[in-house]
Amino acid sequence: MDRARNLDRLGDPFDLAIIGGGATGLGAAVEAAARGYRTVLLEARDFAQGTSSRSTKLVHGGVRYLAQGNVGLVREALLERGRLRRNAPHLVGDLEFVVPAYAWWSGPYYGVGLKLYDVLAGRHRLGTSQLLSRAQVLERLPTLEPDQLKGGVRYFDGQFDDARLAVALALTASDLGAVLVNHASVVGLLKSGGKLRGVQVRDDETGREHEVSARAVVNATGVFADGIRRMDEPGAPALVTPSQGVHLVLPDAFLPGTHALMIPRTDDGRVLFVVPWHRRALVGTTDTPVPEVAVEPRPLEEEVAFLLEHAARYLTRDPRREDVLSVYAGLRPLVRAEGAASTASLSRDHSIFESPSGLVTIVGGKWTTYRRMGEDVVDHAARMAGLPERPSSTAELRLHGAPLDEKVEHSAAGTPSGMLAAYGTEADQVRALAEADPDLAVPMHPRLPYLMCEVAWAVRHEMARSVEDVLSRRTRALVLDARAAIECAPAVARVVARELGRDESWEAEQIASFTRRAEQSLLS
Ligand SMILES: Cc1cc2nc3c(=O)[nH]c(=O)nc-3n(C[C@H](O)[C@H](O)[C@H](O)COP(=O)(O)OP(=O)(O)OC[C@H]3O[C@@H](n4cnc5c(N)ncnc54)[C@H](O)[C@@H]3O)c2cc1C
Repeated sequence: MDRARNLDRLGDPFDLAIIGGGATGLGAAVEAAARGYRTVLLEARDFAQGTSSRSTKLVHGGVRYLAQGNVGLVREALLERGRLRRNAPHLVGDLEFVVPAYAWWSGPYYGVGLKLYDVLAGRHRLGTSQLLSRAQVLERLPTLEPDQLKGGVRYFDGQFDDARLAVALALTASDLGAVLVNHASVVGLLKSGGKLRGVQVRDDETGREHEVSARAVVNATGVFADGIRRMDEPGAPALVTPSQGVHLVLPDAFLPGTHALMIPRTDDGRVLFVVPWHRRALVGTTDTPVPEVAVEPRPLEEEVAFLLEHAARYLTRDPRREDVLSVYAGLRPLVRAEGAASTASLSRDHSIFESPSGLVTIVGGKWTTYRRMGEDVVDHAARMAGLPERPSSTAELRLHGAPLDEKVEHSAAGTPSGMLAAYGTEADQVRALAEADPDLAVPMHPRLPYLMCEVAWAVRHEMARSVEDVLSRRTRALVLDARAAIECAPAVARVVARELGRDESWEAEQIASFTRRAEQSLLS
């Protein structure tokens, strides 16, 4: 993906312009390009910089939806889980979850529900759920609070690296001919005779504006969707209610091993996970309605306290603020029940709306179902714009970097294991950069599982444009250890500046702005 070349192509005529480069927009771009539609995607910040890099990292059917009786939704998500696992084995793996039972009835109760989960997964089942004795639970989760523990249930789900999957989708769309540009904000909609004919986009690196012509415009901006809708209809009522979810990242000493802990009911009636991920333990999440949409949502003190308190309740060692390596918050784009009339509601999970001028907005859903959402929204937009009808082929489409033989070594805890595993078939090329240049052969930081060659690779091939793009989403340094990320920012900035041909003042500004950003991920 070459950003400069893609900027030059913005003058081409497109069939579809997609606004937003999160899971939803990228899924739509892959879908549209795979059907042969001329596709452009514009992302105001970086790919997955919004909600799509801040998830619990689960590719799941949603045990919670099952408890709500939403069987259709669970079945659809389980089907997509199976497809994603097959099409991106370098980024998705299986994870065994344990639901502890502290009351005699809860083991059998959750056991029955999870059997239904197995049945719904059908041939896409990752493993069989099973009742566990107290000893079997503690063998899997040695740091689980043993007092009053009666037993438990195990079940299987998928796990992934969200921002890396977003990069893989962007590269896949690009391989298929789509034009993608990050750090490019849509600032207006172009109309003629009351109908949309394209978008006005600003290159946020230079301030230069471009007109992009497209037969259909898809608004996939998540919690920002109402802002785009109001560029179309200034008085449009709000569709999206943002709800914040926070995660704490702890050292793996709090959850050693390869099993995840699932608490089906917290004090506020939610599901809580403690999940092993890249040799850390992720604790999440919360569900807090927030009045305003922020680019960088801030965790509230009460959310942090809630997570620390619940983790302490179920783990033998109580985590304290100073144990937290990083904290992150994301906003769910929930659809308002009383929102504007829906022209098509294709699933209970996500909704598609069409305005009189033809703006197609897609909101809701989850990462796991991004492919299905892309299929639905491209069907809708193509029909609306009168594009030639073409069937979807993405259910079987291998994503960029996916090995053909599916033989990927996975760590027992879900994510593919080993240095550079996330690059799949390109890992050797990334490694070759280190072999050619000793400066790139060194680790990024002693506490991080990355090499400096990944920085150069990210800039050259993955459209990373800043230190934050590299440390937050091309690698996951900021999530794994915010302090380590701050410490290696100067070395990373040097490589990014060299690759982009920037001067020392740019480098210094990058270090300062990344440090300010990363300090928000620290609790103490
Ligand atoms: C706490 C939490 C945990 C979750 N955990 C899971 C999980 O484990 N598994 C799962 O399947 N799902 C999970 N989800 C759901 C999933 O993360 C979201 O459904 C998904 O990421 C939403 O993607 P999106 O593309 O719609 O929105 P976003 O990722 O927010 O993307 C929208 C993009 O639009 C861009 N944009 C905004 N305005 C403009 C503009 N004017 N011009 C150009 N671009 C613009 C933004 O910069 C942003 O990148 C979780 C969600 C949350 C909040």
